[in-house]
Amino acid sequence: MQLVNDAYLTLTPYVPGKPVTETERELGITGVIKLASNENALGPSPKAVEAMRAALAGVHDYPDGSAFYLKKALAESFAVTERHIIMGNGGDELIDAVIRACVRPGETLLYADPSFISYKLRAQQAGVGIRSVPLKEHRYDLPAMAKAVDATTKLVFIANPNNPTGTYVTATELDAFLTAIPNDVVVVLDEAYVEYVRAKDYPNSLPILKQRPRTMVLRTFSKAYGLAGVRVGYGVGDPDLVGYLERGRGPFNVGLLGQVAALAALADKDHVQRTVDNNTREMERVVPALRAMRCGGKPLEVTESQANFVMVDTHASGPKTFEALLKQGIIVRPLANYGLNTQVRITLGTPEQNDRMLAAMRRVLG
Ligand SMILES: *Cc1c(COP(=O)(O)O)cnc(C)c1O
Repeated sequence: MQLVNDAYLTLTPYVPGKPVTETERELGITGVIKLASNENALGPSPKAVEAMRAALAGVHDYPDGSAFYLKKALAESFAVTERHIIMGNGGDELIDAVIRACVRPGETLLYADPSFISYKLRAQQAGVGIRSVPLKEHRYDLPAMAKAVDATTKLVFIANPNNPTGTYVTATELDAFLTAIPNDVVVVLDEAYVEYVRAKDYPNSLPILKQRPRTMVLRTFSKAYGLAGVRVGYGVGDPDLVGYLERGRGPFNVGLLGQVAALAALADKDHVQRTVDNNTREMERVVPALRAMRCGGKPLEVTESQANFVMVDTHASGPKTFEALLKQGIIVRPLANYGLNTQVRITLGTPEQNDRMLAAMRRVLG
């Protein structure tokens, strides 16, 4: 008998970066900076760290399986009830949960390509049928996606802003898309980077949730809130859908430290503001600096990003650029597994980190 389900035979594992300390050991250098996973360069909120410290002696207990206080705080901040909120072990767990809950045999999931790789990987793992629509000039092509919605389409993911391109869909574009597709299609608006968005025409998804029950907004504490290491994400949606996800969830899926950290981070508005301000200032400085560089006579292409990272096309091999930057002590993300062979994704860091990244890039390009 075959050991595993068919879907697992063809799965390719997510390739995480090596720990920074291991990279340092291999290269025989110190002070390596990681600008590869879109984490918060300023670190976690000091209040979140304090809350975790205070909770440490209690980790022999299971976490609160209902995440009572965290859900209450989130519900208040969105002016919804706790029944509208599902907590996840990172947003990633909820991507998996929605796919498993909603897509039945014969139904399909629609996503854009390239977009967040989890949509595809989790669907493949769940043995769910998938279809994708290519981006157009690195942006979601929502008119083409609306046309691609057919009788089998059950679930659509929209990463807004998109990872790995940093581009976004506007309120008008999203409205037109939602009007064009049937109301029984579940639409997930993945807003992992929403705090960083500067565009004035970015959609306000909360009113959409109220008008269109089969819509869910996904958010995370991993990015602007600086808590990627403790794995907390959440979804906001109709109590019907949330209720089903609650039934399928593991009883203690969000850890004790994650819950107290997220609660404290949510209240520390100053830390989020500092984070966003740093990102906005650095975006205005780093993007022109990268665009002023050339490779093989051609200026580097940098997409307009609304997130805390930029996608850079060096016109040379992305994996080679990644290797060369690594030797300079800068870890970025190569994007060949997204089919982007000449691009790398670079998370914006502190001003000092970005200066080192820019200097390293200049050296690498010669
Ligand atoms: C980072 C990210 C997430 C969620 O990450 P978690 O750490 O699992 O919360 C979801 N969607 C996108 C597009 C992301 O970049």
